[in-house]
Formats: sequence, C-alpha cells, structure tokens
Amino acid sequence: MTSEELKQFKASLSITSVAEALGIDVVRGRFHCFCPQRHANGDRTPSVSISEDRGLFRCWVCEDVRGDVFNLVQQYKSCSFMEALDWLKETYPFLLPGGKSGPQEGSPKKRSVQVSSAVERSSRAQESRSQEPREEEDLQPLLEEKPAKELIPEDERKKVVLSFLKMLTPVDGTPAAAYLMKRRIFKPVWDRMLLRTITDYNALNRQLKETYSLEVLQYVGLFNDKGNLRYYKHPLIFPYLDPLRRASHFQARAIDSSVEPKELHLKGSVPFPYNMTALDQKKGWIYLCEGVIDTLTMLQQGLQAVGIPGVRSFKMQWLPLFKEKNVVLCLDHDEAGRKGMEYLQQVFGNAGIRTIILGDGLENIPVNMKEGEDVNEWFGGKK
Ligand SMILES: [Zn+2]
Repeated sequence: MTSEELKQFKASLSITSVAEALGIDVVRGRFHCFCPQRHANGDRTPSVSISEDRGLFRCWVCEDVRGDVFNLVQQYKSCSFMEALDWLKETYPFLLPGGKSGPQEGSPKKRSVQVSSAVERSSRAQESRSQEPREEEDLQPLLEEKPAKELIPEDERKKVVLSFLKMLTPVDGTPAAAYLMKRRIFKPVWDRMLLRTITDYNALNRQLKETYSLEVLQYVGLFNDKGNLRYYKHPLIFPYLDPLRRASHFQARAIDSSVEPKELHLKGSVPFPYNMTALDQKKGWIYLCEGVIDTLTMLQQGLQAVGIPGVRSFKMQWLPLFKEKNVVLCLDHDEAGRKGMEYLQQVFGNAGIRTIILGDGLENIPVNMKEGEDVNEWFGGKK
C-alpha cells in the first residue's frame, strides 16, 4: 500500500463503525475509556468522545487515550500499527484502494474479535505504550498529512486543470453526445453540468505541450509517463463543479464499451462528491449514486443527486455536507454495491443522517432494481 492509498483508506473508514466492529459499545458518539481504573466510578459515564467527521477519538481524562482510527485499533487491541492495519484491511476489504470489492469477502466481521476483560486490556495497553521505540514507528510518518513534493503550488495546479477544461469542446453533435443520448441523458443536463469532450486529440496534445512544460503536465496528472495526454481512449470529460461552477477535478470516460477501465480519474484524491452544489444545506432528499453516469441519470429525471466514484472514495470529512439531507443510496445492486450500501448506511447513521436504499419502500419508484442492474439501466439506458 502506498502512502497515498493509505491516506485514501483512512479517509474512507468511519471511526464509529470501526469502534463498533472492535466490539466497543458506542452510544451517541461516546464510549467507556480503556483505562477505567483512572476514572471516578470506573468511568460509569463514558468519557471518550468520537468525532466522526474528523476521524478522531479522545478521552477527556486520560492524555494518552486519543488519536485516529489506527490508534483506536492499536490501543484497543494493544497491537502494533502493522497489526492494526492488517485487521482493518481484513475487516473492510471493500474499502481497500484499487482492490476489487468483489463478492468473495464477507461483511465486516463484527464482534468476531476476541474481547478480553477491560482490566487485562488496559494493563496490556499501558505496557505497550511504554515500550519505546517501537518498530512500526517508521511507518507513522505515512499517516501524517505531509504534502507530496510540490512542483507548483496548489493554486497553480488548479489553474492548469481549469485551463485544460477550457480547451475542450461542448459535447453537442459529437460522438460523446450520441453516447449520452443512448444512455438517455440529454442536452439540458449536458449544459447544466458543463460536460466536455476531446474532439481532436492530437491538436489538444500539441496545444497543451505548447502552453505548459511536460513536467507540469505530468505533475498535474494530465499527461502520462510517455509524455502524452492521458485521455486518448477517454474523450468524455465530466468536470467536478464547485459552487462557483469552476472545476479543479474531473473524470474522463470512455465512450467505446470495449475500453477498460471505463473511467479515469485525475490523480490525487476526489475533493468532493460529483454535483456537490446539490448539497445545499437545505432540508430534503438526495440520491447518492455510484459514478457520474448514474448521477446524470438521476439529474435527467429531475432528482437531486450527487455521485461518488465508489464506496471506497467516500470520505468522512464529507459528512457535514449531508447534514440536512436524507440520503437515498443508489449503488449498483450487486454483491459489492450492497456491501457498500450497508456500510454507508452505518456511516450516515452514526452521523445521525437518515438513509434508505433505492427501491426500498419508495412510492415514486415503480419497481425494485434487478440483480446486477445499475441506475442508468434501470431508467432504460443502454450500454
Ligand atoms: Zn480515560
């Protein structure tokens, strides 16, 4: 796992869900301290608070009972960082970056952990904390938010992406438009979401090289190692618009169904869900879809929707964006999608946000989705 992948994995883990999977009883964001002997009345009133969107926990009495999701597993199980990581990987295989969230693995192994008595645990915890230095210490820097070597400042990076997007053409009358229409996504949505396409790859490739150094283009992630624009086979571009309708992130889509992967992301992490402007902090329902096509399908139906590339890319820091919403989960109805929805239900539930699964008891939805179907197919889109 690279440090970028580790960061991604951590960002997609719900600390409350992890605590519960460990066997910790979390009530309204609080649980009993691992070191009850230090507390009056053995910590009868739970002293440890969890901040779900910050991914942290802390005891209000014990200085050393605090940290992130990795620390939580380490302290609870009195284990090393690597052991904690292994346990998390085993428990949440469908959140592992890059890995296929296939049907081969079971759901989070809740309460399968050996739970030793609280006293035994806390004494072991203290022991392990006093043993320094530990061999896993070397890996800790991986977790710090240290930025990768910056070739250009973040502001400049965003400007390069924005100027790339400005070089593209609207989809009208192009093969991308034909593709979208086949999926039953039409012009009003193209315009609203500023969909763009690459019509002349070679000219664009040249234009970019004339405007920026190759080093910058590769750093930003637009160009590959061979020194060419990455989107030769992925001409349909979905900008991730911010509230000012500007984009510093986008996804590129193949329109030829034989191309794998179907989608390419700009490197770096996804800054916010697709169509984040729908998360307007007003009360209401929001459809949470997997992928841009499904999100556009919902928008075409006049529904409020946002998209995430997959359950792995959902970040706990996004939870506040959903605060006022009830969320309809619209992931694919297959094994991986169901597992993902189960997990997201838990995550949103922990944050006090109501969720339902698309098709479950909604009157305006005519029939349940068939096994293996995605939202677009369900609304009549053809692959
Ligand atoms: Zn404590």
